[in-house]
Amino acid sequence: MPSSTPSTRGAQSGPGRRSARREVRAGVPESSTTRRLRQAIVDLVLAGDIPAGKRIDQRVLAKKLRTTTAPLREALSALESEGLLVREQGVGVFCRIYTVLEIEEMVDIRGVLEALAAGRATAYVSDEEIQELRDLASILGAPIPPDGEADFVRTHVKFHKRIVEISRSPRLTLLLEHHHLIDGLLANVAPALWASEPHDHHGIVEALATRNPAVAEQAMRAHIAPTFVKRFAELRKRFGDGPIMTFPLYGASRAAPARGVPSSGSVPAKAGGRP
Ligand SMILES: [Zn+2]
Repeated sequence: MPSSTPSTRGAQSGPGRRSARREVRAGVPESSTTRRLRQAIVDLVLAGDIPAGKRIDQRVLAKKLRTTTAPLREALSALESEGLLVREQGVGVFCRIYTVLEIEEMVDIRGVLEALAAGRATAYVSDEEIQELRDLASILGAPIPPDGEADFVRTHVKFHKRIVEISRSPRLTLLLEHHHLIDGLLANVAPALWASEPHDHHGIVEALATRNPAVAEQAMRAHIAPTFVKRFAELRKRFGDGPIMTFPLYGASRAAPARGVPSSGSVPAKAGGRP
């Protein structure tokens, strides 16, 4: 590609390039410190250590990540512009809350983008990578042990991310990164939902192995959206069209506009409740 931006140039060439994915953030140059902090915060969100709707205590976080507030603020701003975090003037920065409707929309988009990635990947995927994906698919096909949700989500995101990586499109990687975060967030909200719906990944791998882009695209399209159908139904039962929350932020009696969602919807009284 002749017209890569300075931050993407060279990022994809050669297997020895480390953290190529990180080099392509929207063409905006990012210091290595910001990059490290950004990833560390994403990891904390994925681990549920920064629950949706919770205000981030920047001093505590800076200490935890062994940094000062200035670079931390830069990383928080980056995540804010990506939509993972939301700032409320005079109050602070929060991990964004999503509604079921928003997540449905994101899954729709993800289906199209990942199908595109799968199609592209057929041009590049090696036999070793096919085998690697087969191994991951086998792990994902095994029953999820009671405390194995986090491992399942990690492996699941890894599987889907690998295909995007193999598609060698930094732009697709960037577009999809946020959508993969949703898998992690959903797992924090309602872990049991994952166990209810194990889904097959071998079909995708074998479609990639045909090296036929149309076949791979179709397999991925058929995979993504149906996976979430039961989960959406469960989430709706619990949260209605209101924000999906991991803990009772406002208390049952106080219906306040949710952070990060349009203020038109009211917070269901039982938001944040776990069965
Ligand atoms: Zn999947």
